Amino acid sequence: MVTQAVRQQPQALRYIKGVGPRRLTDLQRLGLETAEDACYYPPRRYEDRRHLAAIRDVKPGDVVTVRGCVLARDLRRLRGGQTIFEAAIGDATGVLHSLWFNQPYLAQQLKKGDELVLYGRIESSGSRPRMVHPEMERVEGDDEASLHMGRIVPIYPLVSGVSQRWLRQVIAGVLERFSVALNDPLPEPLRRAKGWPGVAEAVREIHFPTSWESLKTAQERLAFEELFVLQAALAQRRARAVATRKPQRYQREGALVHAVRQRLPFSLTTSQQRAIEEILTDLCRPSPMSRLLQGDVGCGKTVVLALVMAVAVQSGYQVALMAPTELLATQHAHVMRQYLGPLGVSVGLLSQGVKADQRRRRQEDVARGALDVVVGTHALIQAPLTFRRLSLVIIDEQHKFGVAQRAHLAKKAEAPDVLVLTATPIPRTLALSLYGDLAVSTITELPPGRRPIDTRWMGEAQRQGLYAMVRQQLAQGRQGYIVYPLVEPSSAEEASAGEAEAPLTPSIHLQRVRMRSDLRAATQMARHLQEEVFPEFRVGLLHGQMSSRDKERTMQAFAGGALQLLVSTVIVEVGLDVTNATIMVIEHPERFGLAQLHQLRGRIGRGTHPAACVVVSDATDEAARQRLTTFVQTTDGFELAERDLEQRGPGALFGGQQHGGARLRIASLLRDRALLELARREATTLMARDRELRGPSVAALRQRLARFRQQLG
Ligand code: ADP
Ligand code: MG
Repeated sequence: MVTQAVRQQPQALRYIKGVGPRRLTDLQRLGLETAEDACYYPPRRYEDRRHLAAIRDVKPGDVVTVRGCVLARDLRRLRGGQTIFEAAIGDATGVLHSLWFNQPYLAQQLKKGDELVLYGRIESSGSRPRMVHPEMERVEGDDEASLHMGRIVPIYPLVSGVSQRWLRQVIAGVLERFSVALNDPLPEPLRRAKGWPGVAEAVREIHFPTSWESLKTAQERLAFEELFVLQAALAQRRARAVATRKPQRYQREGALVHAVRQRLPFSLTTSQQRAIEEILTDLCRPSPMSRLLQGDVGCGKTVVLALVMAVAVQSGYQVALMAPTELLATQHAHVMRQYLGPLGVSVGLLSQGVKADQRRRRQEDVARGALDVVVGTHALIQAPLTFRRLSLVIIDEQHKFGVAQRAHLAKKAEAPDVLVLTATPIPRTLALSLYGDLAVSTITELPPGRRPIDTRWMGEAQRQGLYAMVRQQLAQGRQGYIVYPLVEPSSAEEASAGEAEAPLTPSIHLQRVRMRSDLRAATQMARHLQEEVFPEFRVGLLHGQMSSRDKERTMQAFAGGALQLLVSTVIVEVGLDVTNATIMVIEHPERFGLAQLHQLRGRIGRGTHPAACVVVSDATDEAARQRLTTFVQTTDGFELAERDLEQRGPGALFGGQQHGGARLRIASLLRDRALLELARREATTLMARDRELRGPSVAALRQRLARFRQQLG
């Protein structure tokens, strides 16, 4: 009998034939630590080797699997060190020409007479069919009716040094030995109602399907399982939070709140009022608040915070506000001082930029309760910071932080109320996965008088016209940004600002090289613009490698109007609010995702003057062109986020750590929307009935959740 412990220990994989200590590391490189991991490792595709194509029948454009013998082979070396390896593959019906570039070692591996299975797209060269860089697998003599032939065969994602054949054998061994010991996290009644197979059968089917139909059912079941476990974890957290009693009690109305309202320079939009109402209602509940406030860039989330903070401070508590960049934290501290300072509320900034001794003094002030509102970067969670009477934790631009960081800050008090904000509108599927434990308030309207930002796409050839556009704005007393892609990250905050970019850059090495040249480009550009293009205006430069003090000084000069044009890296991406800025030029926009472009564009058009955003690109890459076209066509952040999800996947919207705990391997947030909704309903119903999962049919789910929480941290 295989026990649960064995199944989850890495050592268990050693029992499998063909796996020694060295091979164990190969499996680890694939992310397979345990037998359970191997059971759930999804193939990236399948080949139907029951019905292989006859070479005679293949046509250009077909994607096919063929089987044949190497009839002839040849390695050619070209000038410049390139090589071409060619092989003629024949079956009973014809000959297929195949070639591989720059893989000279194939000449050693493939001999005349070898039998192969090839997979790829047929191209025509003259009258003969050919495949370029087909995927290839060797057929051994005794393969008939084995794991590798005569059936639907799994093709896995691999790493170097691991072959399909070997991995297939190992996984078959794992399934044979361990699949029966898998505990099914799906409650039996639910599984039966859906007509889904048990977990053992399902994992066997995703590796070695008996038919396409049963594969589909198994995939659906496992995708559901994955989503269900995630939703159950979130629903449990939600349910536990509701059952918690917090110590803090608030007075909604009072002199301070009244005074803040009186002093507002504008009247709140209906959306803002509703959000405030929802948040205050939460605060007055006996259980701690867990709420997400979302709203497109520029909709006015900050003022909502000011009012909510006033309620907490008036009730005798402290508030912590965390922002992802130093620039934004500094701005928040400044804005909060304007809203609350004159009314006697003390606001303190804690970030890397604050000098060590001053920071120590502020920390002491926080600890003795002398500071009411503490604004900071992730220094807030890193520092050995303690609060005297913290009751409310606010995290701005939450998508720039990891899930763990939110939890960290929330540990600074017994059961604090937590409010997180994001201006990256989240498609519902993603919201349910990332923030499924939160209630959501959405600000749906922009303050009155805003006009849609006129967004244009120009090529290099139009640069003079572009500068004329900028000049016209500056001449009218407005200000502008010119943005370059990320330069070398000099601090954690910049690293996080760059995260969304990562999927676009192939290798870290390349990225580094490019970043340095970008910094040069931004610096040179600033000088060029100042000296040769806009000598009559004042041009500033802002990038992450500047000292905190210089950054702040430059930002203040820009905010105060002493600088008219700011050449900057993406550190201006989030949060900054200079209402007089009406024009933004984005260089190399093809390197940004849609969500990030939209964030950048959100820095302008924050007042009542008409604003324009210009992306400058001669990109030829089709995906990039499509992105830019979409960007120019719509200014609706929600729509752009949906498009981004479609075009680049969830990773583009959120850094890896965001869904680190909730990485989906089988389910897809795009394809499986309906399953996700179902999983959420079922998980919520279950938790309402049995929050701690004491029932016998959910024992396996309970264990799974315990492990899942460990991963989440
Ligand atoms: P975001 O939601 O992107 O954080 P902000 O809170 O920075 O947006 O607000 C953007 C700008 O709109 C700020 O200059 C702010 O003062 C202004 N603003 C906010 N609410 C209103 C309102 N109801 N009427 C007019 N202007 C507003
Ligand atoms: Mg903001």
